[in-house]
Amino acid sequence: MRIDVITIFPEYLAPLGVSLIGKAADRGLLEVRTHDLRSWTHDVHRTVDDTPYGGGPGMVMKPEPWGEALDAVIADVAPESPELLPTLVVPTPSGRPFTQAKAAQLAESPWLIFACGRYEGIDRRVIDAAVERMPVEELSIGDYVLAGGEVAVLVMVEAIGRLLPGVLGNAESVRDDSFAAGAMESLLEGPAYTKPAEWRGRAVPEILTSGNHGAIARWRRDQAFARTAAHRPELLARLDPAALDKKDRIALAALGWHIEGDRLVPDRAAEDKAPDGRAPDDFADQPPA
Ligand code: SAM
Repeated sequence: MRIDVITIFPEYLAPLGVSLIGKAADRGLLEVRTHDLRSWTHDVHRTVDDTPYGGGPGMVMKPEPWGEALDAVIADVAPESPELLPTLVVPTPSGRPFTQAKAAQLAESPWLIFACGRYEGIDRRVIDAAVERMPVEELSIGDYVLAGGEVAVLVMVEAIGRLLPGVLGNAESVRDDSFAAGAMESLLEGPAYTKPAEWRGRAVPEILTSGNHGAIARWRRDQAFARTAAHRPELLARLDPAALDKKDRIALAALGWHIEGDRLVPDRAAEDKAPDGRAPDDFADQPPA
């Protein structure tokens, strides 16, 4: 996979040269090219921003350097295979959520270009014009606002890069991750343990040293249900009841969830806690907002 990152802070992307992604690049599994947006400015101050039309605080990134930068990077599209277009990824808090499923989809692409915004973001016309030339994904890494797109790019490239064939030592580990397509799609992974079997008086759950692989798999799935119910109950509601076996249903019933029609829903007892939906432990010592 080829990855181009356009930014006004190329040094911010240095972590892509270390650890898993850095090693993958050393092994030729992916190639990261970082570009300084200011190379496509033509004034003495190398200006990339200007005041917003319509007034208001902050600055907006100017379209001209972005237009030239994208022209220059996609000039590498081979004339003999124009169908091999890059996908432009624009990190923005107003984008669609960047999820594990999106990471897996983008990992299929041979070439990604990331456009790092700063200030109030990039002049909208840059994205509107890009849509006419290549696939464009406007993606948010969460419901909070960063100062710039660089950290979001680090997050996305790491999530995408570890899914590329050959990058992880054990490709199977991806299958059991939280959010992994298949059995884990709407679940969080449960706890993990390593040696020693006892540490500071705390023993590893006995089942994990039993050698009974079926029972261990069952225990792990039950732990995933419990963790998801505790931390992200809205994910449990997305589980497809048709994909749940009898033991899954028993485990979920013990956590206060049952099947109603084609949906998994919390028992009334679990719902009837607080008007704002918080469970008792969440508001024991706090007044409702
Ligand atoms: N005014 C913009 C808004 O409220 O949507 C926020 C701009 S933010 C200060 C500057 C840049 O940080 C954005 O252009 C984007 O590149 C990046 N950014 C901030 N929060 C992000 C998030 N949650 N996900 C992805 N990128 C984000």
